[in-house]
Amino acid sequence: MAALAPAPSDLPDPSVAELIGTRPHLAYHVRDGLVMEGVPLVRIARELGTPTWVYGAGTIRARLASLQAAVQSAGLPAHVHYAVKANDHLAVLRLMEAGGAGADVVSEGELLRAREAGIPASHIVFSGVGKTLRELRLALAEDIAQINVESAEELDMLSAVATEMGRTARVALRVNPDVDAGTHAKISTGRARDKFGIAYADIPALYARAASLSGLSPVGLATHIGSQILSLAPYRAAYARVADLVRDLRADGQNIEVVDCGGGLGIGYRDEPGLDPAGLAGALKGCFGNLDVRLMLEPGRWLVAPAGVLLASVVLVKRMPGQRFVVLDAAMNDLVRPAMYEAFHGLVPLSPIAAKAAMSPADIVGPVCESGDTFARGRMLPELEAADFVALLDAGAYGAVMSSTYNARPLAAAAMVDGERWAVIRDRQTHQALWEHERVPDFAR
Ligand SMILES: *Cc1c(COP(=O)(O)O)cnc(C)c1O
Repeated sequence: MAALAPAPSDLPDPSVAELIGTRPHLAYHVRDGLVMEGVPLVRIARELGTPTWVYGAGTIRARLASLQAAVQSAGLPAHVHYAVKANDHLAVLRLMEAGGAGADVVSEGELLRAREAGIPASHIVFSGVGKTLRELRLALAEDIAQINVESAEELDMLSAVATEMGRTARVALRVNPDVDAGTHAKISTGRARDKFGIAYADIPALYARAASLSGLSPVGLATHIGSQILSLAPYRAAYARVADLVRDLRADGQNIEVVDCGGGLGIGYRDEPGLDPAGLAGALKGCFGNLDVRLMLEPGRWLVAPAGVLLASVVLVKRMPGQRFVVLDAAMNDLVRPAMYEAFHGLVPLSPIAAKAAMSPADIVGPVCESGDTFARGRMLPELEAADFVALLDAGAYGAVMSSTYNARPLAAAAMVDGERWAVIRDRQTHQALWEHERVPDFAR
């Protein structure tokens, strides 16, 4: 919980220097201010306006490579399937594909996006608790690598659709291991009371049923216990239970080729250490090393969150007795995590002068008509003025994908940096686009 709650400890928030010092892809340049990889962010803010998302391609590639290296050096036959929902931009998906990752999708839209980005169907896994008939048909028509089934009801649905289409679905059953991931309640998925997966005790019977139904080829088990997990203990507990099931099922004569180990790897948003991929590889090896199974990993957040920032401008600074409100042009409709999960996001000025100036507490808010539209309270920041640029850090995952157009605010622009070059990867939505698909019926005229 500590990672997501708003600074519950007595420790002061990390300073601007500490926030930047612990993020190797960001640095202050004396003249250009905050630089991502090799690009001064002020350049992008001036050219595209704000709010604007910026993602570092070099950072994403490096994170994917370091995760792959960690599992490889542990000698594990593991393949990364990037969880598309964390950041589904086509350019991000291209980087994943080029880096050798497949995709974990949870909807028709994500499946189509992954294919549009050139990820082969044979590298796509479909997860999710409520896949529709139409989604199952698409998955079968595309002949994707694997469908992770989350209930007896879904198993029957899938068997019927596959049989009718004359296809065979490779299925893994998603186990709910009843383990508490120690994360925020809204992103915990592996406890018995959560809606996800199949109850542990029901797996053997259901696996046998899957093997007997037409149109299905059971290939293994899957699990995913939650998101923003910062300790290995819940992983070890969940994986140990899944490994027991692999042994039990094999003893029953079942075929188990694959274990999909899910995602959930946490990052340091404040000053907590993120999950170490070498530690995760150790836990995987400890539980599955001797089982002769192919492993899949489905990280989303860990790969992309640190690689993104949300650039914003100060609209005005509102002073009230004993309080300073810095009102930004970015809001909860752009980045909802603080409002939804009370998440911490570092906030720093782009100006190199402001970064070194005297700091005093400020509340950072957006302009939306909700008190929840607050990015941070009591944050130590320099004097800021209207039109100053700031960056909200670690916004590369569950940022743009969760944006809405609440308050008729168009979706923000997005750019990608790669070393010293950068490019626009999404135009700012126009106001006309907000209503272009609306119709006013005669009776309302
Ligand atoms: C959301 C999700 C993931 C990715 O979670 P992260 O915390 O972003 O790593 C992986 N697998 C499944 C099934 C998911 O629903």
